Amino acid sequence: MAIYDPKSLTAEEFINHEEILETIRYAEENKHNLPLIDSILEKARPQKTATGVHCAGLSHREASVLLACDIPEKVEEMYRLAEEIKLAFYGNRIVIFAPLYLSNYCVNGCVYCPYHAKNKHITRKKLTQDEVRAEVIALQDLGHKRLAIESGEDPVNNPIEYILECIKTIYSIKHKNGAIRRVNVNIAATTVENYRKLKEAGIGTYILFQETYHKQSYLELHPVGPKHDYAYHTEAMDRAMEGGIDDVGLGVLFGLERYQYEFAGLLMHAEHLEAVHGVGPHTISVPRVKRADDIDPDVFDNGLSDELFKKIIACIRIAVPYTGMIISTRESQAVREKALKLGISQVSGGSRTSVGGYTEEERPHDSEQFEVSDQRTLDEVIRWLMDQGEIPSFCTACYREGRTGDRFMSLCKSGQILNCCHPNALMTLAEYLVDYASEDTKRVGMALIERELEKIPRENVREIAREHIQEIYHSNRRDFRF
Ligand code: SF4
Ligand code: SF4
Repeated sequence: MAIYDPKSLTAEEFINHEEILETIRYAEENKHNLPLIDSILEKARPQKTATGVHCAGLSHREASVLLACDIPEKVEEMYRLAEEIKLAFYGNRIVIFAPLYLSNYCVNGCVYCPYHAKNKHITRKKLTQDEVRAEVIALQDLGHKRLAIESGEDPVNNPIEYILECIKTIYSIKHKNGAIRRVNVNIAATTVENYRKLKEAGIGTYILFQETYHKQSYLELHPVGPKHDYAYHTEAMDRAMEGGIDDVGLGVLFGLERYQYEFAGLLMHAEHLEAVHGVGPHTISVPRVKRADDIDPDVFDNGLSDELFKKIIACIRIAVPYTGMIISTRESQAVREKALKLGISQVSGGSRTSVGGYTEEERPHDSEQFEVSDQRTLDEVIRWLMDQGEIPSFCTACYREGRTGDRFMSLCKSGQILNCCHPNALMTLAEYLVDYASEDTKRVGMALIERELEKIPRENVREIAREHIQEIYHSNRRDFRF
């Protein structure tokens, strides 16, 4: 039997089945243990330090106790704490991104995804470089600066050389005032050598969802293809980091397995990265299984209610305060609205989840990877965020300034990153408003920028940001950053 060891490089030791079961048992036993719950909440509270605010975070066991706790006042306290942590580290800024699907050719058999190899009636498509160019121009014309590229796994149709060529094309396109400044990559687990190539291509975050941490379920849900190899998939982030990628993004597909199991596994994975590489995950995504071409989410009997989903988001926020959290257009406007307050720091907007979707006039429903619940345009999403009191941010500054990995985390933990995030959010929002927004969004956004400029504490930073924003409004100069 494998022994739990967060420092091990063997999947079944750092994601240890027995330890997860023991954690769930411990959480169940203690879910009404008020002194313990209070001490866990106390430990997680933000503390003022000489340089800013510090949060201790929680272990997977402590966080699992909070997740299990169903005492209404304590749950309310968790929500308030999650909101407090969110505000302390991310303020009222929300970073915007869009997915770009390159190819839906796939040799795997994931039973929850319509791109699985056995689906013979879905249209298979792989973008040519000209089509990548057209999609990227369409995305730039919407106002996007940050993309997450997505591709099925197919060594013949989508080899690493194809992915690298697409990244090069994406970064090379300068259209009007637009530019894609950060390409995050969500492709199948691969070798250290290929991760090194991705690093050299200048990617931002490497994202790979575990789907489920439960090995037996994993094997059943991925019956064929290279993804069937649980250890190879689970150990991918270690290879990515060995290949020089500093920022990695975790996620599970909630609904496939018991949420308590996935939650503990996810946090154990974060602890493992911290223990081995000295830096935890850059982001955590929280997708839920959705309807798609030949996929019926109801066949998976671990579906989550919206209420539970909210609690999971809050508990992740409390446990790993320095990790960005992402929610996509899989979720409806109403769910996204609640999630924003509880810890989400990045959202997608105006997304198309099919290959070639941005250049199609109508949203193509028959070849989407999942049904998009939030179908609003990017302009509507930006306007909505501002109405919620949030600042939509198109900032991509950190990795372009070399602030990645442990350098990023130490700036984050000392609170110094806040001196960059706020002015960068306002300057990139100003770019969006003058170049892409509707008149109404522009009017609301400009007023918001005026108000938010006043909140920049350091006078010199405030004045520089103000000057740059005026330059953006009155000239074609772009891409200012702190
Ligand atoms: S989830 Fe990814 S690997 Fe699995 S079938 Fe879909 S595209 Fe292929
Ligand atoms: S300054 Fe860095 S951490 Fe802050 S929003 Fe920009 S990229 Fe993100």
